[in-house]
Amino acid sequence: MKKYSASRPYIGKKEERYVLEVLRSGVLSMGPFVERLEKKFAKKVGRRFACAVSSGTAGLHLALLAAEIGKGDEVITSPFSFIASANAILYVGGKPVFADIDPKTYNIDPKELEKKITKRTKAILPVHIFGQPADMHAIMSIARKHKLVVIEDACEALLAAQNGKNAGTFGSAGVFAFYPNKQMTTGEGGMIVTNDKRLDSLYRSMRNQGRGEDRRWLDHSRLGYNYRMPELSAAVGLAQIEKLDFLIKKRRHVAMLYEKALAPLARYLALPKTAPRMTHTWFVYVVRLLDPRMRREKIMSELSKRGIETRPYLPSIHLFDVYRKLGHKEGELPVSEAVSARTIALPFYSELTKKDVGHIARMLRAIITKK
Ligand SMILES: *Cc1c(COP(=O)(O)O)cnc(C)c1O
Repeated sequence: MKKYSASRPYIGKKEERYVLEVLRSGVLSMGPFVERLEKKFAKKVGRRFACAVSSGTAGLHLALLAAEIGKGDEVITSPFSFIASANAILYVGGKPVFADIDPKTYNIDPKELEKKITKRTKAILPVHIFGQPADMHAIMSIARKHKLVVIEDACEALLAAQNGKNAGTFGSAGVFAFYPNKQMTTGEGGMIVTNDKRLDSLYRSMRNQGRGEDRRWLDHSRLGYNYRMPELSAAVGLAQIEKLDFLIKKRRHVAMLYEKALAPLARYLALPKTAPRMTHTWFVYVVRLLDPRMRREKIMSELSKRGIETRPYLPSIHLFDVYRKLGHKEGELPVSEAVSARTIALPFYSELTKKDVGHIARMLRAIITKK
């Protein structure tokens, strides 16, 4: 029986060559590969500066610190995201305020967002979920009206765009992540992009124990962290960014294969929808069960028995224990909660073929159409 994992990175000979080059050079940290990756990344995404960090989470943390978000400041964000986006707000002492999502795109709903603004609101942290941008035109106009900082969590949306402008380039900072299931990987890693030189210098200092600009080894001018990206990771990342267009083309192709193969199941499943004027770069392929009587856990375990690994993407952040302890509960964000209870991420990676997708679709069909 062929096994299908939920995700899988696409690693080739070039990654091996660059990693070997790093190992043989003896420069394992703060070397040329990180700099090359940063330059290429900034250019590709369309911002002046890109600062590599050890993870997407670290990137969000630094972006919030540099924006001087702190104790008591409210930051409006999406409950339908990976937990890191809200956790970063807690790291700096801020208060995550969740605004409900759009039931079609699963991105934060700008109307709900505006309702959550108070005197204490300092920033908006929109998340571009599953590879499709949030409505940044609406969000930026709300931010301008209320003078709020915008930090974009673009960790799932590398090269996604609204009207041709890339996710992560609307706000004062955009954060990307390179965990192995993302559009490109460095193993672990992240990137913060900005057009603001002052912010970029702050990120560089804070990722490196607060060292001053001149990089003198024991000059720590502010509180910093060790959020540096290793050269070995950057070597993998450089090889990946050099074939990023190809990687995204492959993802788009697999999404199209799923769309065709699952079309006959339209009575049972809501398939992902790309909103008008959005460029979607497909982080995952998530279907939603339409009939409330369909039992998600059962369907997932039946698929698993057939070698098909799936994920219940995504649980609503506000219902995790850490957030319940802060007073959040069921009923607070009805759309996010309803979507969270019924979504399934199918196996999704660039090497899936038409035959694979056809097989997965047939198995899914057999499970959900049987009484
Ligand atoms: C992957 C991801 C992150 C960051 O993840 P790391 O594992 O820290 O790199 C943040 N937000 C979202 C929405 C993500 O999908």
